[in-house]
Amino acid sequence: VAASDPPLELADLAAIPVTRLDGVGEKAAPGFERLGMATVLDVLTTYPRRYIDRTKQARIGDLAVGESATLLVKVTSSSTRQTRNRRSLTNVTVTDGTGRITCTFFNQRWRERQLSPGTEVVIFGKLEEYRGTRQMTNPVVDFIGDETAGIVPVYAQSEKEKVGTREVAKLVRSALRKSRYRGFADPVPEDVLDQHDLILRGAAFEGIHHPETFAEMQVARKRLVFDELLRVQLALVLRKRALEDSLKGIEHVTGGQLRRAFLERLPYELTGAQQRVIAEIDADLAAPVPMHRLLQGDVGSGKTVVAVAAMLAAVDGGHQGALMAPTEVLAEQHHLGVSALLEGLEVEEEGSLLGNRPLAVRLLTNRTPAAERKKLFAGLEDGTIDLVIGTHALIQEGVAFKSLGVAVVDEQHRFGVEQRAALRERPGQETSPDVLVMTATPIPRTAAMTVYGDLETSILDELPPGRTPIVTTWIKSSAEGPETLADTAEEQAMWAEVRSEVAAGRQAYVVCPLIEESEKLEVRSAEETQEALLAPGGELEGLRVGLLHGRVPAAEKEQTMASFRAGDLDVLVATTVIEVGVDVSNATVMVILDADRFGIAQLHQLRGRVGRGSDASRCFLVGAGITDDGEQRLEAMVETTDGFKLAEVDLDLRGEGTIMGARQKGRSDLKLASLRRDREWVEKARAVAFALVDGDPGLKQHQVLREEVRLFLPEDEQDFLLRS
Ligand code: ADP
Ligand code: MG
Repeated sequence: VAASDPPLELADLAAIPVTRLDGVGEKAAPGFERLGMATVLDVLTTYPRRYIDRTKQARIGDLAVGESATLLVKVTSSSTRQTRNRRSLTNVTVTDGTGRITCTFFNQRWRERQLSPGTEVVIFGKLEEYRGTRQMTNPVVDFIGDETAGIVPVYAQSEKEKVGTREVAKLVRSALRKSRYRGFADPVPEDVLDQHDLILRGAAFEGIHHPETFAEMQVARKRLVFDELLRVQLALVLRKRALEDSLKGIEHVTGGQLRRAFLERLPYELTGAQQRVIAEIDADLAAPVPMHRLLQGDVGSGKTVVAVAAMLAAVDGGHQGALMAPTEVLAEQHHLGVSALLEGLEVEEEGSLLGNRPLAVRLLTNRTPAAERKKLFAGLEDGTIDLVIGTHALIQEGVAFKSLGVAVVDEQHRFGVEQRAALRERPGQETSPDVLVMTATPIPRTAAMTVYGDLETSILDELPPGRTPIVTTWIKSSAEGPETLADTAEEQAMWAEVRSEVAAGRQAYVVCPLIEESEKLEVRSAEETQEALLAPGGELEGLRVGLLHGRVPAAEKEQTMASFRAGDLDVLVATTVIEVGVDVSNATVMVILDADRFGIAQLHQLRGRVGRGSDASRCFLVGAGITDDGEQRLEAMVETTDGFKLAEVDLDLRGEGTIMGARQKGRSDLKLASLRRDREWVEKARAVAFALVDGDPGLKQHQVLREEVRLFLPEDEQDFLLRS
């Protein structure tokens, strides 16, 4: 390598195999590759998991019982014995010259080999006293070797591949050393770096791996976090602009007669939030670029009216509207609800003597009988059907519209990018419909920017007036699992409440535990719960209790839902199939069994099935809450009904992994950036991405940056990124 060679771009680093680094022979390379380090770029972006500050090391002699500390020690002896309950107990005695402690490890026999006498290690743990011996139980052990630096990076280790933090550190050192000849290219424009107080990329790589102070590490981290987030935002913004440029939309009329007639007939006033969101949507509808908007609105915030208002704008201009729901139950319910809202509305009919015909709203699901389906297809094609509501059946082959003007996708999280695209791309139609995506699972702002970054966002952050807040109670069950459904006085009181609500003419849901591993077990548990509740002496003996789960045949499911809606059933025992959208305003009690098995988003959705009318509603969360997370989830649910607040808690508890969903593979993962910790940087990166793309469409002046986006987020993975 000559010093005159141009600085290294990330693509260059990605083209150099690890075998070119010191200490990696043909034999060692496969192990590193399995750990995700195949190239020099991989090595440089394998960031330390944490750092050991050797300047702040404690000494055993100064340490008090109950204190946690990092110690640099030498092993003096180690041995393993069997405990009475058949576990192995390895005792390792260590010293640092000022004192002596014992490290105890349960069921980690291999520690005896790893920590043989004479070995020097850094341990981190809490000092305890047990039967007069000072000890640490299961401390964190790191081999940092003869490191002399003040701050030592600790990398993820793999026992299996026999790669420890020392081996990785060596590789990183070699990678940095070899890169110094040419230096790192920096594709981020200088003014952007200045504006956000960011250091150069080369300094950032040095600083994250070998900082002299923690402040230096933070500065380096900031730069690298920015790079990761900028690449994601560039991908999203490029995609957004490309869609806008390639698709021709319809300039809808938003003040037409149908829309006006619809709003005038509504039995209630729109909330301020509904008015604001409709105005946001209208601005998009009127524009020549097709709308691509996400509507986030908590359960019960009134998204349906907004969706109908949008679709009617299409009909007013002689186009059609479609509403796609994730399940048949939901599609049917939407069809009933929307038809009722539109009852009596008429559309002008050209060439007809009377000039008007009733607005035509139809339902299309996989269960629509063949004959009816044929008629329906014909009606969609000749434009005599104005609005169609359905499931995935809407985007199957054979469905052709005369002119689809507005498409609404409800409960987005069940649909992927492909489905949105299928709705948008109309073969034979010159224009693309405006697309509105609705979700009742609020996600924090910065997460929305990352997951749905190619969509505009509207938020319905106000509930219609007159709702009484749902009172949520956590009913603690025993950790061993309940013997019956009413082991404790609290549980008995809960069932008494269910019975008294039913006696007062209202209805209840009982949601059975989620069993991820097996639908069969889940169904079984729902059946058993129904049986137990109805058995002689059971908690709901004598009530009309229906059952709904994933294996109930579709026709029966519909029948059960219809009975519940009609009030012919008092209680519905169900699995999570009732999670989204089910709307029975007479239901006022929600009981969720084993609630700590559910995630916050799911609990929030389930709870949203009650509190839909003006009657006060209650939600009971039955759970032991034995895990920290479980306890915090249930506490958060008791504390607030605000979906956005819960989403923040959820993000804090679960991290972004789940939000980023299936995107586990490839380089595209955010390795350093955290949607929680780095919220402000998500926003900054997004603003920079817009400025760059809009100042230089296609990033022609920023080729290196464009290449980096491709390198980390190949086109096919960008789809992944956009799927939740
Ligand atoms: P979601 O956002 O959960 O889909 P819906 O659209 O189903 O909410 O609305 C929930 C309930 O609130 C429905 O019964 C609907 O009729 C009612 N609703 C919607 N908007 C208003 C409003 N502005 N004032 C009063 N009730 C409303
Ligand atoms: Mg809804």
